[in-house]
Amino acid sequence: MKSKFRCIGCGQDYPIDQVVFSCSQCSDLLAVEHETKLLSQKSGIEWKQLFDSRHCYSQAPYNSGVWAKREWIAPHILDNDIVTMGEGNSPLVTSKQLATWAGCKELRIKQCGISHTGSFKDLGMTVLVSHVQFLKRIGRNVSAVICASTGDTSAALSAYAASADIPSIVLLPQGKISPAQLVQPISNHATVIGLETDFDGCMAMVKELVQEHGLYLANSMNAMRLEGQKTVAIETLQQLAYNPPDWIVIPGGNLGNTSALAAGLRMLRELGLIETQPRICVAQAANASPLYNSYKDDFNSTSPVTAKPTLASAIQIGNPVSIAKAISAIQDFDGVVETATEQELANASAYADLVGQYACPHTGVALAAVKKLRQNGKIAESDKVVVVSTAAGLKFSEIKSNYHSGSLEKINAKYRNKIHKTKNEASAVIDVIRSSLSL
Ligand SMILES: *Cc1c(COP(=O)(O)O)cnc(C)c1O
Ligand SMILES: [Zn+2]
Repeated sequence: MKSKFRCIGCGQDYPIDQVVFSCSQCSDLLAVEHETKLLSQKSGIEWKQLFDSRHCYSQAPYNSGVWAKREWIAPHILDNDIVTMGEGNSPLVTSKQLATWAGCKELRIKQCGISHTGSFKDLGMTVLVSHVQFLKRIGRNVSAVICASTGDTSAALSAYAASADIPSIVLLPQGKISPAQLVQPISNHATVIGLETDFDGCMAMVKELVQEHGLYLANSMNAMRLEGQKTVAIETLQQLAYNPPDWIVIPGGNLGNTSALAAGLRMLRELGLIETQPRICVAQAANASPLYNSYKDDFNSTSPVTAKPTLASAIQIGNPVSIAKAISAIQDFDGVVETATEQELANASAYADLVGQYACPHTGVALAAVKKLRQNGKIAESDKVVVVSTAAGLKFSEIKSNYHSGSLEKINAKYRNKIHKTKNEASAVIDVIRSSLSL
């Protein structure tokens, strides 16, 4: 099976074995095109059977939720090229309490943060780094992989690259990354470079650098990554026995993951695995919401903004690379865009924690969006909703700790849980327990 890259602007094709990141004719983004004719030789039922037969497989590569779907992702990649950490196969967790809180019938969380480096970026990086192995095998000049990152991309890239003995370089906005995230690429021995700029500045620098020295671009403008991230849609639907929810809500920054979600849903639809389709909601932090602005203008305009600081640091992006792909995703899946303020996202993730989750701030943005869309009637009371949780809450413990100590600026911490300090005496401890439990 031969897949290829196709320009989303002018339609120019490029072979899959060419090192190319954007169209040389019109400089637009590329997308991977698979041979749908060949793929549709199997019926929807046969694909379901094949995917189900690989579920809970113990051996590589099918112990990976990504490579278990390899025919749809990267059929040109051979077993020996594959660099996997057993990513994917993440839980889809039902929360009655969160459904009640949001006011909808069912609410499930797709826990993409339960993964090797703690975010969904692993789904894309296993494919990108495996593709680099493929390129090297056929003699292409790749000396190192490089990315700009707000944290999670660099963590995933450096881990997968290190496990394949490929040097990695990460450009980070100086001082804007949580210590827990910064330590990941450092530990995996990436060359970590802090730049006095924001994410958008780092991204521009990467684009300038990849022209030279065999540096291979690993940001989500690289279409190979989105192929792996597409499995979020396929896996979620598989877990729902291919009964689509009414909504899939996803936090969006650079908007690669939004377009990957839609690409996965399109394949499910085209190859006959689903008959109805979910609507998509992209949730943005109000402080970094260029897609929301465009949505409010019926997509007549798209203008970059200067992203303001947000607790949801991975989506503090003002000039999203994949905005055109995200707009077509929204149009294709009758989608909407919603925003969450800092207070809304902090309280939404704290409420999720109160009922047993450990939600990252980006998941908080998505949960807050569900509640708002329910309140303004876009999501109906009878709707079933899946929220894509993009990272592990453990990466953001500092924010949680500040939330509960009441030291997050300008945030009224509605679900604050204070530490009680008391004398080392049973009667004093019992008093605290009584008052805490209202006994
Ligand atoms: C990368 C990332 C996002 C945003 O994904 P995009 O593809 O940039 O829209 C959201 N949440 C987390 C935790 C991330 O790491
Ligand atoms: Zn083009």
